[in-house]
Amino acid sequence: MTAATPDEALRAWFLGPRAENAELFERLILESLRDHIFWRRNHHPEDGFTIHEADRRRAGYDDAIARLTEELQGLLAALKRDVPFFSGRYQGHMVGEQTIAAQIGYFAAMLYNPNNVTEEVSPVTTRLELEVATQLAAMIGYAPERAWGHLCSGGTIANFEALWIARGVRYLPVALALAARDLGVPLAVRSLDGRPIDIRSQSLWALLNLEPDATLDAYHLLHESAPGGDVVAALDAHSLSTIGYQDYTRRLVAAFGDPLPAGVVLVPATAHYSWEKIVRALGIGAQRMITVPVDGSCRIDPDALWQELTRCATQHTPVLAVVSVCGTTEEGAIDRLDLVVAARDRAARELGLTFHLHSDACYGGYAAAVTRAPAGRRLSAEEIRGAHGFDWPAPEWVTAIEALAQADSVTIDPHKLGYVPYPAGALLIRDRRARALVSLDPPYLTPPGAGPSQDERFIGRWILEGSKPGAAAASVWLTHRVIPLDERGYGHIIARTVRGAHRFHAALEGNALAPFSALRFPRPDLNIVNWIVTHPSVTDLDSLNALNEGIYARLSPAADDPAYFITRTRIRSPAYDGAVLPLLAKLGVNEAMWRRDGLVVLRAVVMDPFFDGGPRMPDHVAGLVTALQAAATEALATGLQPSRATTRLV
Ligand SMILES: *Cc1c(COP(=O)(O)O)cnc(C)c1O
Repeated sequence: MTAATPDEALRAWFLGPRAENAELFERLILESLRDHIFWRRNHHPEDGFTIHEADRRRAGYDDAIARLTEELQGLLAALKRDVPFFSGRYQGHMVGEQTIAAQIGYFAAMLYNPNNVTEEVSPVTTRLELEVATQLAAMIGYAPERAWGHLCSGGTIANFEALWIARGVRYLPVALALAARDLGVPLAVRSLDGRPIDIRSQSLWALLNLEPDATLDAYHLLHESAPGGDVVAALDAHSLSTIGYQDYTRRLVAAFGDPLPAGVVLVPATAHYSWEKIVRALGIGAQRMITVPVDGSCRIDPDALWQELTRCATQHTPVLAVVSVCGTTEEGAIDRLDLVVAARDRAARELGLTFHLHSDACYGGYAAAVTRAPAGRRLSAEEIRGAHGFDWPAPEWVTAIEALAQADSVTIDPHKLGYVPYPAGALLIRDRRARALVSLDPPYLTPPGAGPSQDERFIGRWILEGSKPGAAAASVWLTHRVIPLDERGYGHIIARTVRGAHRFHAALEGNALAPFSALRFPRPDLNIVNWIVTHPSVTDLDSLNALNEGIYARLSPAADDPAYFITRTRIRSPAYDGAVLPLLAKLGVNEAMWRRDGLVVLRAVVMDPFFDGGPRMPDHVAGLVTALQAAATEALATGLQPSRATTRLV
């Protein structure tokens, strides 16, 4: 027998577009269900029965069953209007098929309904949650003994927590300095050039520009220098989280004379729209979120970032956090995080400016599996290309992924490229001490006699959410057991999706859509393809946008039985100038119109590992090209309706 290959295993990982693995799936569902029933039957059998055989013969009982059966049938019928994510014809949003392991793990645990707020109501799945967080942290290169992470409902919440923690760490030195003054104790903190300085004598600007590690060291030092209760009370008296923004600013004026401009958050133009919600919700304010332009590959422009950091330093504007994206929602672009890390180090050295560095890897995080050999060794770009047999990735891609280990926090959504059911997002922080800045300790939830280890398993005290599904943790856990976070598992799945995306990108070249043509964004870093369809008769931006809207309308759930599913987005100036200006001449569009209206761009998210096709498989790349051509022909024939639609992408 020849050795089993990941490509063979892949056929067993999913139910399959035609439910080819239905028998396997059924067997595992039944096994999980029967095992649960067995558990109930054997739990204190001496209690006897509550619902008796005779009860099941009564009219009221029958009525209730009839109702349940019919209503369920109604639901099942209604669900047929749902979107067929399992199909190779679906290349729409960031959602695809789920792994069988993830579905069975979810189903099995759901029957027990554990609540991962605390281990008292989830003794098993809380452990699993902490385990999967450790696995994800190891995949991105965090030191396991220092890092911490947990699951939550998704990327929005994970990003929220990251910024919540970031802000907590940023303003902590102010509370430390004022608390140390109140307590009358000296408190040493490491300055940017490595010297210990007394925190009490620092300016506000210096306090807001300590390195996160130095801040957390000082935090612990203060706890050692005075009785615990006194320290907590002194910090509470001066913390943003207890005082709130309104009074906080007044206090800064009183203590330092000048509150400085309000802190900002820097995000690339490609940032997911959750960031705007988050700065609004945290009271930072949407105006204090600064957008950094992107380059021709939709990656954050490091020079533009540096300019922005310089401007902040000159104006003494504190930078709460810089967000970089690993797998942008619209384009799957992977920022050169290594260059962002270099900018961070340089800013500390040359500008005396520090910040929390966050990588939003909600979409692209699992791609780190591509760079891991089974025992965890990091693979080179050359090794990866050899293993997957196509021209990807570039060495810079691997360097950018390796840099995830340097970020202060990283968010990764198992419910995207982890192929698990909703809800499953993950927050990972490099230094577990930072979580204390957002923790609460409601006594009624603390397990009796809680020592440090039980504290660990009371996840709800460290995070934003309370009750949350243990089933989600079981789901992620089981799929990680079956499909490892390395080149044989998720790395293999993701490399295949990238190959499929590249094939589609290539298939749009030349006159594939004749008489139309496709103007493509550069070949993607990951598995999302963006393009614009043009026609010789379309000579102004309104018509061009309308043509692409018209194509999208025919290839979206809004259409009647669409042959394929894609999505579209509208990108705007100036944030996307780097990506769009090189295309304008070819599109025959003038710059003023682009600046006014933006550009509708078609998008296919290729999460389907079978999209690449192969012998005895449907060729969905060719199918999608044909469907695009047909949709474009129809859209042009029925007349182009101007539109200003803006739909958010998920
Ligand atoms: C999807 C996504 C989010 C938001 O995640 P949800 O799970 O939908 O809340 C955030 N950032 C990026 C880059 C994403 O792709």
